[in-house]
Amino acid sequence: MIDTLPPLRDVIRAHDLRAKKSFGQNFLLDLNLTARIARSAGDLREVDVLEVGPGPGGLTRGLLASGARRVLAIEKDARCLPALAEIEAAYPGRLQVIEGDALTIDPLKYLQAPVRVVANLPYNIGTELLIRWMTPATWPPFWESLTLMFQREVAERIVARPGTKAYGRLALMVQWRADAQIVLGLPPEAFTPAPKVSSAVVHIRRLESPRYPADAAILERVIAAGFNQRRKMLRAALRSVHPQIEDKLLAANIAPTARAEEIDLARWCALSEVLQP
Ligand code: SAM
Repeated sequence: MIDTLPPLRDVIRAHDLRAKKSFGQNFLLDLNLTARIARSAGDLREVDVLEVGPGPGGLTRGLLASGARRVLAIEKDARCLPALAEIEAAYPGRLQVIEGDALTIDPLKYLQAPVRVVANLPYNIGTELLIRWMTPATWPPFWESLTLMFQREVAERIVARPGTKAYGRLALMVQWRADAQIVLGLPPEAFTPAPKVSSAVVHIRRLESPRYPADAAILERVIAAGFNQRRKMLRAALRSVHPQIEDKLLAANIAPTARAEEIDLARWCALSEVLQP
């Protein structure tokens, strides 16, 4: 056992926490597994952790048991608060729970650097939160690393390499400013209730500055245009980006007949540099 609190099945029964689809609830009840996910975020002893969607608190308990300095947990479903209050009592001063929507709450005023984010996210907001965390107004962001559960297919898009079907905007947006790897795969049965698809935990570690120089807005625009028509040659897919796009592609050492999927991060950044006005 990782702590002396009751098993999660008992917690769920005692507080009548039947999972609701509307909240994207698929709970992890195996505390050895949640402790393992917590460990994949590294040594948390001198770290504040932001957790989105603690639910009945399986991962929260994993984080606290593995020594996190503090955990700030944001939970939208008020039914979970009494169960989380029991965890707060078992770890005095180390857990703060905020009831609300992680998409609208600004957690920064509650956190002290260094901060890491660890979460078994509701699938319906996972990608949106990832994009927000990867695209702050200034870099480096408030977090050192993100350790996040995604549907396996989304996890594969985050770590994808050029020349693969999964390669696209998500891979480039993350890999431009961070190292990303899949650290754990989970079958549907690891969750209660079991979702239809497999899941994976992705660990994303920020770089102190982007891997290659580029203007974030231009890079985003050119990648979006390229992958929106990923089967087309770039000279056609990027026509709307610049009137002399063939010259710009050649200046960035990219064949105008190439397709978005074949172009690595270094060359997307080079292209966005030659497109600077
Ligand atoms: N962390 C728990 C675990 O691993 O068992 C629960 C994970 S469950 C996939 C997602 C959790 O996020 C649920 O507890 C749900 O109520 C919560 N949630 C859903 N939408 C949310 C939002 N917009 N803001 C904060 N929490 C949310």
